Amino acid sequence: MTLRGRLTAAFLAVVLGPVLLGAVFVGTTLAAVDRSRSTERLGLAASTVRTSVDALCQQLRAAADAVALRTDPAARAGAATQVVSRGLAGAVLVTDVAGTTTYATPGAPPTPWQDCSGDRTVAGPVRALSARVDLRDPAGVALGTVAAAQVVDPAFVARLAAATGVAVTLLDGPAAPDRVTHTTESNRVREAVLAAASTVDGDRVTETPDGRYVRRLGPSPGQPLPLVLSVPGEQPAGLPAVLVGAVLLAAVLAVLAAWRLARVTTRPLVELAGAVDRVARGDLTARVPVRSRDEIGRLAGAFNRMTRETASYVAALTSSRDQLRGHLAVLGDTLASTHDLQRILRVILHSALAATGARAGAVLLLDPDGVLVGQCAEGLDDRVPDAEPLRVPLGTGVIGAVAATGEPQRGRVEPAEAPAGEPRCETYVAVPFAAPGGAEPAGREPAVGVLALYDRLGGEEFDDDDLATLRTFAGHAAVAVENVRVHEEAQRLSLTDPLTGLWNYRYLRESLRREVERASRFGRMLSILALDVDRFKRVNDTYGHTAGDVVLAEFARRIRGEIREVDLAFRQGGEEFVVLLPETDARGAAIVAERLGAAVRDTPIVVDEHVAITVTVSIGIAVYPDHASTGQQVLDAADEALYAAKAAGRDGYRVTGLRPDAVTEEIPVPAGAVSPDDELPRAGPAATRAAEGSSRQAAAVPAPTAGVTQPATGGASSGPHPPRQSRGR
Ligand code: GH3
Ligand code: MG
Ligand code: MG
Repeated sequence: MTLRGRLTAAFLAVVLGPVLLGAVFVGTTLAAVDRSRSTERLGLAASTVRTSVDALCQQLRAAADAVALRTDPAARAGAATQVVSRGLAGAVLVTDVAGTTTYATPGAPPTPWQDCSGDRTVAGPVRALSARVDLRDPAGVALGTVAAAQVVDPAFVARLAAATGVAVTLLDGPAAPDRVTHTTESNRVREAVLAAASTVDGDRVTETPDGRYVRRLGPSPGQPLPLVLSVPGEQPAGLPAVLVGAVLLAAVLAVLAAWRLARVTTRPLVELAGAVDRVARGDLTARVPVRSRDEIGRLAGAFNRMTRETASYVAALTSSRDQLRGHLAVLGDTLASTHDLQRILRVILHSALAATGARAGAVLLLDPDGVLVGQCAEGLDDRVPDAEPLRVPLGTGVIGAVAATGEPQRGRVEPAEAPAGEPRCETYVAVPFAAPGGAEPAGREPAVGVLALYDRLGGEEFDDDDLATLRTFAGHAAVAVENVRVHEEAQRLSLTDPLTGLWNYRYLRESLRREVERASRFGRMLSILALDVDRFKRVNDTYGHTAGDVVLAEFARRIRGEIREVDLAFRQGGEEFVVLLPETDARGAAIVAERLGAAVRDTPIVVDEHVAITVTVSIGIAVYPDHASTGQQVLDAADEALYAAKAAGRDGYRVTGLRPDAVTEEIPVPAGAVSPDDELPRAGPAATRAAEGSSRQAAAVPAPTAGVTQPATGGASSGPHPPRQSRGR
């Protein structure tokens, strides 16, 4: 049953109950009053009838006495006639002792007459009511009786009715209540009255269905007539109908009112229920009209506010989710597509800021000196006045502590207590990140960096959710750092020679192209040295391949020690090496070659405690752009020079000729091609001196013997050198 139905029913019960009760009360009260009044009237009528009959009987007795006083029969007849004519009786009858009628006034009704004493009741209709006295002679001898009678006819009954004010019915006899002698009842009600009368006796009053009250009266001593008295009820005839009608009308009105009231009452609830249903189905645009200021109105208002706030909350969540999705997409793309660590960290920081709603933040990585160095920052400009980038020693301040302990921290900073060297802020959260797959148990891995965010929007402290989010981003950062490290390592491995640690042939080609391009762009020179260990086959043959490897590694180490940071050393293959000297002319290159030769020659290479091997190296020099216009050509030229150096007896260097015909005493140095003033170690004054004074200085090409010393390892003649193997280039 719906709420509306229940309310209607309740309202109906509340309204109809009292109406029904009232109607019943009014009906029963009116009926009771009516009955008692009618009973009273009937009682009054009954005593009036008794009195009238009694008076009539006394009158008849007096009339009979008057006749009986006459002793002479003739006088008696005269007296009787006189009594009748004076209206004292309707008829007079004289009987003898035997009961034989001796005289009767003319027109006397037929006997038997009902006697006033009521001793005997006449069977059948009562024709007359009589009083009887004894007739005696003067001596007192009984002569018979004299009876004076009143004719009982419709007029008599009508008189009785008029005297009492009620309807009077004379029955044929007490035992025949259904047969009527005379009556003043109308034909319409007669049947009902008689039927009702037959159900009662004595003084009791009964009621006919159409509202008449009926009682019996007599026969009894003093009132010998069998009578039925009846009065109509005073209650208006239509009262029950009116009452029922009123109740029905009230019911109909109540139903209408209840329906309307229930509708008005439940309508807001129905609307509210509908709106709640819609919200439950996910439609947050559902609103309820606020129709009143009562509880339901307040409920509707609260519901509307609630859904509105929920909708805006959902919208905010959706947009922040979309934003986050966008950031994650960018982050994913960045992680997948680049090994540019700076860029990855910037994207991670940006995403972390967007995800947590922080105003500022930074990513710091631990450098080998144990200092956390800011790699990227956002919104820190006015927070770190001078320190740019951020530098926080491990273990100091918040960031340093986070990195040192591996435990994230979050909280609020009082302006006075801001750690020195760290950004000024009100709230902060800092999460360490460690190299994935570290040997330490989770959470205690040595941090490789810290992701720190500052001043959450809205001024609230960063919470555990933010911390969890940041851990995710820190995880990304850790993976990115590790990826970049692994990538760099792979890169390095793919470009370096495992035995010597020098760059490999592959990187040589790349570097050659790059350095030539750079030299060409800036109008600088680039020298290329081609190196080949002398008689290395013999080292292998004498000391074994392993010792040869040791020699090669140490050789490479010495070369590296003799060149500048910007110079590049390569192992081309076997015992052949190449050195690139950016921004260096032939003169500088010759100085370096001199130095390299000395570094190799002067100190024997210790293989183990028993073996120390002395080797020498031959070097060919070519210069871009003097000797060729492409990297490959310059390298080939250097090889040619190397060949010349070998041919000249090894353990020396040669600069390739400018042109086959260009034989000069001086090393050509084009105008403007000068060594940069970068204070990097290169051919210095000592070397210059050596270059000026050394007999090994390549003064001319192709003078095969000039300035070329014999290799320290000895044994080598200056004889013809076997043709150089092709390198397959
Ligand atoms: P020269 O250059 O003075 O003419 O004489 P060489 O004996 O050095 O000449 P060659 O180029 O014929 O010999 C090079 C030798 O170097 C051949 C090879 O056995 C040896 N060799 C090449 N690569 C390696 C290496 O990685 N380890 C060792 N131990 N030896 C190597
Ligand atoms: Mg060789
Ligand atoms: Mg060799």
